[in-house]
Amino acid sequence: MNVKNALKKAERLLRESGSPSPRLDGEVLLGWCLSAGRISLYAHPERLLTEDEHERFNHALARRSAGEPVAYIVGTKEFWSLSLDVSKDVLIPRPDTEAVVEETLELMNRFSSSGGNVLEIGTGSGAISIALAREAPGRIIVATDTSEKALAVAVNNARKHGVENRIFFICGDLFGPLRKKFDIVCANPPYIAEDAWRSLPRGVRDFEPREALVAGPDGTEFHGQLIDKAQSLLTGGGWLVMEIGDGQRRNVEELFFGSGAYDSVRSRRDMTGKDRVMAGRKKTRR
Ligand code: SAM
Ligand code: GLN
Repeated sequence: MNVKNALKKAERLLRESGSPSPRLDGEVLLGWCLSAGRISLYAHPERLLTEDEHERFNHALARRSAGEPVAYIVGTKEFWSLSLDVSKDVLIPRPDTEAVVEETLELMNRFSSSGGNVLEIGTGSGAISIALAREAPGRIIVATDTSEKALAVAVNNARKHGVENRIFFICGDLFGPLRKKFDIVCANPPYIAEDAWRSLPRGVRDFEPREALVAGPDGTEFHGQLIDKAQSLLTGGGWLVMEIGDGQRRNVEELFFGSGAYDSVRSRRDMTGKDRVMAGRKKTRR
């Protein structure tokens, strides 16, 4: 079988199995099987697949047809133009989350070069912290997660992008092990409501770690805990930056103001125009 026919077959099969992007999935999977970029598939449509490549491709198509996300099959996902390794132990980083990086960078720049240090809670693959470390070389970044397996993936990704000496990874529950104060705390916490779990797309529900996604009856349980507990770890005038889900803005705004500890709250949209990030500034003591 040649490249052109392999792509045709993949597109048909993946469409039948319900993939929302059958052509793209086929291209990425075939490119991976042939260790070639997607563009080069079109430059060499007549290239024949070896027997090994064909077998590997069929295996990849079978996994994708069973609903497994492409990123888990090929083992990488691009975030902030960085190729990150992913395994079933970490959430696949989403493009929406780049808005958390943008907001955090903007707020970091308000601090002098000796400040603006960041704590990330729930780092998963390390996506946010690694992007921040690449963009802001002088700052200290601490990243936590409760999952040791996720942290192993994050450490490996930090090494892959040359920032392993600038991020301190710590295993622990929320702020548990920390004493130092930070100018910024950021997080993409779990925010799917318990009842909404069952209606998530199959690839998310059946393959991604549940503990990375689900957060209490309305999905804002972690936001509430972060707003409450970040108070003791933020410097006065420091910011808590959190990703939010669709329709959670008002609720999270109320949590910020209801706590009485924050004096300014702002929001940022993602690339699709949805409110995606909320940030609150801790009051300074007078
Ligand atoms: N930051 C990554 C990203 O944006 O792709 C992963 C975000 S994922 C939505 C949430 C992460 O929080 C998961 O890696 C999960 O293991 C971690 N987590 C869940 N509960 C936690 C807790 N109590 N303390 C710290 N991390 C937690
Ligand atoms: N955006 C993710 C999803 O759609 C949810 C991420 C999260 O809970 N932080 O599945």
